[in-house]
Amino acid sequence: MAKLNHNYRKLSAGYLFPEIGRRVREYSAAHPDQAIHRLGIGNTTEPLTPTILAGLHGRVDALGQRETYTGYGDEQGETELREALVAYYAERGVALDPRELFVSDGAKADAANIQNLFAQENVIAIQNPAYPVYVDSNVVAGRTGEYDANAGVYTGLTLLEGNPENGWFAAPPAEKVDVVYLCSPNNPTGAVATREQLTAWVEYARGHGAVIIFDAAYAEFISDPELPRSIYEIEGVKECAIELTSFSKLSGFTGVRLGWAVVPYALRTEDSEDGELNRMWNRRQSTFFNGASNIAQSGGVAAVSDAGKRESRELVAYYMENAWIIRAALRELGLDVTGGDNAPYLWVKTPGGLGSWEFFDQLLEQTQVVVTPGTGFGSAGEGYVRFSAFGHRENIEAAVQSIRDNLKFWLRAKSRELKRSQFLVGCTRHLKLESHRA
Ligand SMILES: *Cc1c(COP(=O)(O)O)cnc(C)c1O
Repeated sequence: MAKLNHNYRKLSAGYLFPEIGRRVREYSAAHPDQAIHRLGIGNTTEPLTPTILAGLHGRVDALGQRETYTGYGDEQGETELREALVAYYAERGVALDPRELFVSDGAKADAANIQNLFAQENVIAIQNPAYPVYVDSNVVAGRTGEYDANAGVYTGLTLLEGNPENGWFAAPPAEKVDVVYLCSPNNPTGAVATREQLTAWVEYARGHGAVIIFDAAYAEFISDPELPRSIYEIEGVKECAIELTSFSKLSGFTGVRLGWAVVPYALRTEDSEDGELNRMWNRRQSTFFNGASNIAQSGGVAAVSDAGKRESRELVAYYMENAWIIRAALRELGLDVTGGDNAPYLWVKTPGGLGSWEFFDQLLEQTQVVVTPGTGFGSAGEGYVRFSAFGHRENIEAAVQSIRDNLKFWLRAKSRELKRSQFLVGCTRHLKLESHRA
């Protein structure tokens, strides 16, 4: 009899977004005339730009002519796109060979598949909180124990805890780990690793023979020139890092689907030969993948042309302005907000020590604004929610207006309640002291 992959049963139940959907539907059913403001999901909303559209259209037309029709292409991606991406890296002083780049249908699938290059017994380290695919792909591959529902973690994984003290970007651990997932700019916290923080990780990886899998899907949201946009901007990193990137957030390709992975020739593990990991990924892509859509790839070439890059930067700037609009309103209300400087996410501390889901419910109830509870990204997200800056400007403004109009009173009442309870705690303490004396 066939048996199933038991690792799937370890996956923690109730995927985050369906649960959000359920609560929103319930609220809407009870309040049918209330408009819902969605600042929850990290999905792009603005249309593709003219240069990209021309690239896509051109390829569609070419596919309609016998002379220019093409079928399957190279599994690793079309040479034109790989070369264009090499030029894109060269602008930042990063030299790559086109054969070190592997075009894909998006960074999420690459993030799920890449663990396959590494032996079962590797110790995996993942940021907490983190984009869920890093954890789940390793759970399904059998590199973890069971999910501990109370602690909100899988046994056998090393979690790199983010907190306000480390700016939501943990330093390397004292113990030895083998494969490390880092995401900067970070989803969900909006934190961006500094050159010093990344250098510390690269030194750790070189010292311990570890491999870093660096998710740079939001690289183009960095406007601060001091912050690295690619891990390859750090010295000596090609032997220890894979980079995963995507056109999704860069150029609005969330539905078009196009990304790429960089697996350098120099990348090595303690038991690999020269260039072996690059050849393994090439082998893997050639057998398990039939290449990204040729239409999407022509769109990608257009996206990294000079005009395409200019337009994509405008698109990114639009979302970043959304982030600043939301942040200003939240800070005015006295909420503690980080992120949103070089990333389209705001990481907001819940007021009055509320749990992530409790504040989610309150925001929905009081303001009809939907956010994402921090706990959906890992246990260290408890006490936080994520606001996404993806959305049409008018919807962002409506959401912010509703927050301004409705949250203030609730926050005031909450803080009075808090003061009262602190007062009561104080009184009890006082009484205890008195009774002790008596
Ligand atoms: C959106 C996102 C991606 C991109 O995924 P695609 O499959 O390329 O759309 C990758 N990593 C993170 C952290 C993301 O938020």
